[in-house]
This record gives sequence, C-alpha cells and structure tokens, in this order.
Amino acid sequence: MNIILFGPPGAGKGTQAKKLQNEYNIPHLSTGDIFRAAIKNETPLGVKVKSILDSGELVPDQTVVDLVADELHKEKYQYGYILDGFPRTVVQAKAFDAFLDKNDDNLDAFISLSVPENELIKRILSRGEGRTDDTEEKIRTRLNVYRKETEPVIKHYKKQDKVQEIDGSGTIDEIFERIKAALS
Ligand code: ADP
Repeated sequence: MNIILFGPPGAGKGTQAKKLQNEYNIPHLSTGDIFRAAIKNETPLGVKVKSILDSGELVPDQTVVDLVADELHKEKYQYGYILDGFPRTVVQAKAFDAFLDKNDDNLDAFISLSVPENELIKRILSRGEGRTDDTEEKIRTRLNVYRKETEPVIKHYKKQDKVQEIDGSGTIDEIFERIKAALS
C-alpha cells in the first residue's frame, strides 16, 4: 500500500505516519527527517540544504525528487510506504506520478489532514522539538509557502480522485481512527 500523508506544517503528519507504520507494517519516509539527519551529520546534502530549512523555504524540486526516487528503490519499501512531506509542489507530484508509472506501481491513498491555522501555530510552538524553523516568524513563512506552493497539490490529486480529507483536530487517537476508517 502506497500512501501520501498530506497537510500543513503542524498538522500531525509525522505523528500519524509513525502510528500507521506500526499498524500496517509499512515504512514511513519523511523528507524533512532525511534533511534534518543530513544536516546533523553534515553530509554534502545537509550542507546544501541547511540554510533553506532554517529559512522555512523549500528545497529545490529536483533535489527532493532525486532523493525520494533513490530512497524508494531500497528494499524495505518494496511492499509499500507512507510518504510524509512529499510531494510538496505540483512539480514534485508530477515527477512522483512519472516515477510510479515507470515502476508499474500506483498510489493507493492521499490522506489530507486539515487543521485550522491558529491551531497549527499553537501546536508547533508547544511541541518543543527545538527545530530552528519552529519560531513564530519561520512558522508564518512555512504556512505561506504551504498555501502558495503546497496546497495546489490537493487539486492535482483531486483530478485523480484520490483525495480523502480528514479532520485533523482532536486527540492523536481520534485522528488515527479517522485515517484507518478512510483507508479501509
Ligand atoms: P513541516 O511539515 O513541519 O514544515 P517537514 O519536516 O515536513 O516539516 O519539512 C521541514 C523542511 O524541510 C521544509 O520547510 C522544507 O525546507 C524541507 N522539505 C521537506 N520536504 C520537502 C519537499 N518535499 N520539498 C521541498 N522542501 C522540503
């Protein structure tokens, strides 16, 4: 099963992706986590993307698309995966469609978590992960980038009739139950 978990910063994609990974036994691929690990380990990728993540802007499409394609060729993803943080632009979504086609594969579900904006800011500020992009100013930048670059991805998958909108407010378990119901 190939799933895209979609939503604005702070919507709880990472939290729900981990729960889905346990429930369905399919690995979770978070592009944000990969970038943060690369920055921490000071790899060439990390050096390249550090200032971009710090600013709250997006990493160039080609860099992300190449990274995800490389990653998904690993054996652990052969029976499916949960994507979190990708695709984040329409260009990335089209590249991902082409990737699936080329590998004779398809997308099973696009789960879109919706949460009111004031709630998103509150959640990010209170989660205290110590991320350099979790200041109020950077969160606003990320939300602006989301509205402008990322939200149009929903329309792209609506055309494919794949989108399932889930109410992302409530407790972690309530949201998880809604996602499971949508997937069944
Ligand atoms: P959040 O959803 O809370 O903003 P992520 O961990 O998904 O956090 O992403 C953190 C940062 O990593 C983004 O602000 C962006 O700079 C970069 N990033 C992650 N995924 C992508 C992507 N698919 N395309 C471009 N940049 C990305």
